[in-house]
Amino acid sequence: MNIFNKKLVAILLSSSTLLMNMNSDAAEPTSIAQHKQVAGFYQYPLGHTQITALLDGTNYLSPAIFKGIPAAEVTRILKKYYADQAKGVQTSVNAFLVNTGSGLVLVDSGSSSCNGPNFGSVIKNMKTAGYQPEQVDTILLTHLHPDHVCGISTKGTANFPNATVYTSEAEANYWLNPQQLSKLPKDQQPRFKQIAEKIQQALQPYQSHKRFKTFKYGDTLKGFEVMNTSGHTPGHASFAFSSGHEKIVFIGDIVHSHSIQFDQPQTAIDFDTDAKKAVQTRLAQFARLAKNGQAVAAPHLPFPGIGHIYSADGKHYQWIPVHFKD
Ligand SMILES: [Zn+2]
Repeated sequence: MNIFNKKLVAILLSSSTLLMNMNSDAAEPTSIAQHKQVAGFYQYPLGHTQITALLDGTNYLSPAIFKGIPAAEVTRILKKYYADQAKGVQTSVNAFLVNTGSGLVLVDSGSSSCNGPNFGSVIKNMKTAGYQPEQVDTILLTHLHPDHVCGISTKGTANFPNATVYTSEAEANYWLNPQQLSKLPKDQQPRFKQIAEKIQQALQPYQSHKRFKTFKYGDTLKGFEVMNTSGHTPGHASFAFSSGHEKIVFIGDIVHSHSIQFDQPQTAIDFDTDAKKAVQTRLAQFARLAKNGQAVAAPHLPFPGIGHIYSADGKHYQWIPVHFKD
């Protein structure tokens, strides 16, 4: 037997052993212990500053919440992205902590207990990343939906006792105006009321210490320039921030899905207060961000929600997430 035949026999023997093993292992194991994932924080250096993405939690949304797109098209795109449609569309809730060197700024704060038990990990992940809530001096809210504001408080107590909370004047005027409820059509009133109550509860400890303030579009706070990205909510804002030669935009909820709303950016979502305006805002911002190439930090794109936006044709977009770096 020459060397080649010996090799061939060895291969045949090993492959038949493999086949035997596969047959004997055909039964599914009954249980494999599920270990907790590693802590949900991700540090991203930007110029001389450091951004820490903080995971609040993940959940599944019904594909039916996407509007202005045929259901068959939703199914096609989700299949392309290998999204498990039986469970729904997985979504992430992220917040971002920015260490500017002279202060600690939190952009959005997660859901706390406002949206069920899957959320509420921002503070735990912040501590694991080496920061204490008492160190945060500024909280910038892109808007007042519960998955962005509820994380600032727990049962009437401020989670960030030394921070001042800011949102846009237009946003505060909408959700905190006692007259707003009666201006809405009857069928929209229960939902508004439910959301407004959660917002008021979260803000209350800051309001009572005069630590709740508003900004206007075009203002700059702690180096964050406030951009008008209204539509998803009437006073929705994004924040442009730079350090050295590097730039990032905290886009807030101009997008909720890295699959459907990138492939078909004209797709609205059920949570948009003004769906038409929300779509216009997304189209304008996506075009700008794809052209200028700033980094993007997004609360609902897969954790850590930091990456870039690319377009080959100006009509369809692609989310390019950061690569994990240890
Ligand atoms: Zn949101």
